[in-house]
Amino acid sequence: MLILTCPCCGVTAEETEFHPGGEAHVKRFGPGSNDDEFHSYLFEKVNPKGVHFERWRHANGCGKWFNAARCTVTLEVFGTYSAQTTEPPQDIKDKISAKRPGWSWREFA
Ligand SMILES: [Zn+2]
Repeated sequence: MLILTCPCCGVTAEETEFHPGGEAHVKRFGPGSNDDEFHSYLFEKVNPKGVHFERWRHANGCGKWFNAARCTVTLEVFGTYSAQTTEPPQDIKDKISAKRPGWSWREFA
């Protein structure tokens, strides 16, 4: 069971209270972008075995979107944070690095 804490209202609950929103930190392309950039934005998503950054919505609570860093193998949640960021907070990156030696945020950026 996946247990998440909404960083917006502070409620900790199982995943049925939330709604998944796919990969976090996806670079969006707007007018003027080429077809390859737009294709990658629409269809090329990561599906890692390990650390993953995801968007979640507190559907049965405050209704706000947030991001979560978790392991897709163990379901360990490294932390949740505001969706209004371009990358995870340093404390979450440090927590992941401590538990997954050799892991780097640059793989995702
Ligand atoms: Zn909430």
